[in-house]
Amino acid sequence: MTPPSRTPPPTPAFAPTPDPLTPARDITHAHFEAGDQVIVLKGVAGGELWGDAVRVVAPSWHTPTDKDGWRLRDATGGAQTYITGHPRYLVHLSRRCPDCLIYLRAMEEHLLPKYAGHDAVVDCGWYTTTALGQLVHIADARGIR
Ligand SMILES: [Zn+2]
Repeated sequence: MTPPSRTPPPTPAFAPTPDPLTPARDITHAHFEAGDQVIVLKGVAGGELWGDAVRVVAPSWHTPTDKDGWRLRDATGGAQTYITGHPRYLVHLSRRCPDCLIYLRAMEEHLLPKYAGHDAVVDCGWYTTTALGQLVHIADARGIR
């Protein structure tokens, strides 16, 4: 298995694609701790998964899901350097743990065949960031008014 690309490309093609796996992920807040390097998967690039590499900073309430989340630092985030995400959005880069590897493999099997032969970078359109700096998966955004 190749690790996901850590460098977000400048202009991904936007291709809304269903993601049934992330919302179904059973991962606890305690799976992560401050200092962990993680990635938020965004899509596919050149036959591999890609996403935004961020650092876990501190516990923070994730208001879109009303659950314990994590404050994240995105070094390339500009005005949104600090965002809050749900634990199920995060995949470990700093250690190879079974929970995150199972999810990565499942995402690869789900997505890579859909974009086989595409060299372009594809943003699958799963995440938005609210004005209050909350990262929201599309499956969690339906309840937001
Ligand atoms: Zn993990």
